Amino acid sequence: MKYEGVWILAEQSGGRLQRISHELLTRGSELASKRRTDLTAVIFGNNIPDEDLEELIDRGADRVLVTEAPQLEHFLVEPYAACMLRLLEEFKPEIVIAGATSTGRTLMPYVAVKARAGLTADCTELDIEPDTGNLLQTRPAIGGNILATIKTPTHRPQMATVRPRSTHPAARCGKKGQIIRRSAPKELLASRIQRAGFIPNTDTHTLQDADVVVSAGRGIKKAENLPVVQALADSLDAALGATRDVVDRGWVSYPHQVGLSGKTVTPGLYVAVGLSGSIQHLAGMQTSEHIIAVNNDPDAQIFRVSELGIVGDLFEVLPVLTDKIRQARAGGKKE
Ligand SMILES: Cc1cc2nc3c(=O)[nH]c(=O)nc-3n(C[C@H](O)[C@H](O)[C@H](O)COP(=O)(O)OP(=O)(O)OC[C@H]3O[C@@H](n4cnc5c(N)ncnc54)[C@H](O)[C@@H]3O)c2cc1C
Repeated sequence: MKYEGVWILAEQSGGRLQRISHELLTRGSELASKRRTDLTAVIFGNNIPDEDLEELIDRGADRVLVTEAPQLEHFLVEPYAACMLRLLEEFKPEIVIAGATSTGRTLMPYVAVKARAGLTADCTELDIEPDTGNLLQTRPAIGGNILATIKTPTHRPQMATVRPRSTHPAARCGKKGQIIRRSAPKELLASRIQRAGFIPNTDTHTLQDADVVVSAGRGIKKAENLPVVQALADSLDAALGATRDVVDRGWVSYPHQVGLSGKTVTPGLYVAVGLSGSIQHLAGMQTSEHIIAVNNDPDAQIFRVSELGIVGDLFEVLPVLTDKIRQARAGGKKE
């Protein structure tokens, strides 16, 4: 049986496209170009605006498959899975990737079992094996101590979920493509789960949506010293991040943890203060656009990924830096 094409699962919430959709287009475009095949964005919802669907094409999709019904307005695993399985049967894609979001993490295992396909969850890298064309799915394994690359050589489609914020959203490129809108067949819409409501977690969103993140490591020595880092963060209108060591000591709460077992962030600027740059911390921030580090150890790992490194005692460097930034901002300068 011939399986062809790369699919991404685009997500909408409240009728609006979610950022993960654009990140998956970045991943999907790379894979489709290596496989010399088409990229399709699949989306479920109700009355999704045309401009959102056109944006998926503008950012890289060759085709958008939209399945709509009032019952698909909000994510419910049974109808979403039934509709996805129907599409898989009809179109037979070779690769399907989704975000490792609550939707992707719930839906994809359900679909993979029913489709008898392999699924690698929470990938940080995806690639194509040159000789075989198999999808190479890389994710942290054994408690985050190694990165494992997993293949699904025999079953199709190959399925994976990808960590949100592990890549940048695809840019608009003026592409042209096809939008196929369909109503979901009634028999696919039954659900034993009813939606009771939705309460967003505003705390975690602040960190992941921030343009600037200032993170504290164990170098701050004790919780009482946190205001030194917080002052720098405030001067930059930045969100506060932290390493796991800082969180484990109770100096900062868990929603602020950046890294393998915390949040992945891709801000425009990441300022790493008194943290060493462990592989687990880097996994959550190394795709930031610009990285600045302050550390008193010139050999600290964090300097390897930093664009600008300040070797010095954070308790001397930070107050000066914070003052300079405040003055520059008060004077209307951007430094
Ligand atoms: C399964 C697993 C998952 C993990 N998940 C995460 C995760 O999600 N996020 C995470 O961060 N870690 C995670 N870790 C922990 C990780 O391995 C490291 O232990 C942790 O990141 C180290 O934190 P740190 O950089 O704050 O501390 P350290 O490694 O102790 O670094 C402190 C740094 O501060 C510098 N310093 C000290 N004093 C000063 C000063 N006065 N001025 C300037 N610099 C100073 C030192 O030179 C040093 O580089 C995980 C570990 C495992 C095994």
